[in-house]
Amino acid sequence: MTHVAMTIAGSDSGGGAGIQADLKTFQELGVFGTSAITAVTAQNTLGVHGVWPLGGEAVTAQTDAVFGDFEVSAVKTGMLFSAEIIRAVARSLEEADRPALVVDPVMIAKGGANLLQQEAVDALAKELIPLAAVITPNIPEAEVLTGMDIRSESDMEKAGRSLLGMGARAVIVKGGHRTDERRASDLYMDRDGSRMVLSSERIHTKDTHGTGCTFSAALTAFLAAGQTLPDAAEGAKRFIQAAISDGLGIGSGHGPTNHWA
Ligand code: PLP
Repeated sequence: MTHVAMTIAGSDSGGGAGIQADLKTFQELGVFGTSAITAVTAQNTLGVHGVWPLGGEAVTAQTDAVFGDFEVSAVKTGMLFSAEIIRAVARSLEEADRPALVVDPVMIAKGGANLLQQEAVDALAKELIPLAAVITPNIPEAEVLTGMDIRSESDMEKAGRSLLGMGARAVIVKGGHRTDERRASDLYMDRDGSRMVLSSERIHTKDTHGTGCTFSAALTAFLAAGQTLPDAAEGAKRFIQAAISDGLGIGSGHGPTNHWA
């Protein structure tokens, strides 16, 4: 049986993040990838050189076309850029046949480019997060969403609880930005009371472009294939760990992770 996954995200011309990373990851993990593009970015390993968002209507036309034809079992959102796009995506997901939704609350690229307008944070929190099976913020994103200062594992847990309170069924607070820590530890929590630390050796490399996109795409692929959320989270952690440790060494800036399974 062919499982279908969908990514609703921005295009990265450099191929390391966004739609391109998501589709490569879906392919590697054996699910059929479909997409709705929210914005075009001119980008390479040195940074984001331009952003051209689409209007809500163009995004809805893409999601309608895909949902109208395929049985999509899991969807991820990445770069959504504007409140208009977030509202369009929330509406189309409510009308679709309840695919499992992974919300990666992408805000700022590593190079500093804004991938979500400031005024769109509220729409993300109020309109999309309540529809999510799981949300996957890194620490800076969790801080913006909760207004908290996150420095320790117990802060991650408090933030996780606050994010569950916004309506997501589960949350993975990714600890990779806590560079004071020797290990890279992510905290999984869900509304049924499960709690799990996904921990791995920290890999010191500059080639981490697209890690957040690739992690949430792997999680989406495993959910599309029918895995439980905790199993999908563990599988995605293993996938991203291998992707970071086998860097490709291409580009002169922050190179892409490898997407091969
Ligand atoms: N570009 C697009 C289109 C993205 O969706 C993302 C990530 O979410 C990025 C860039 C950010 O890439 P990074 O911060 O990993 O360099």
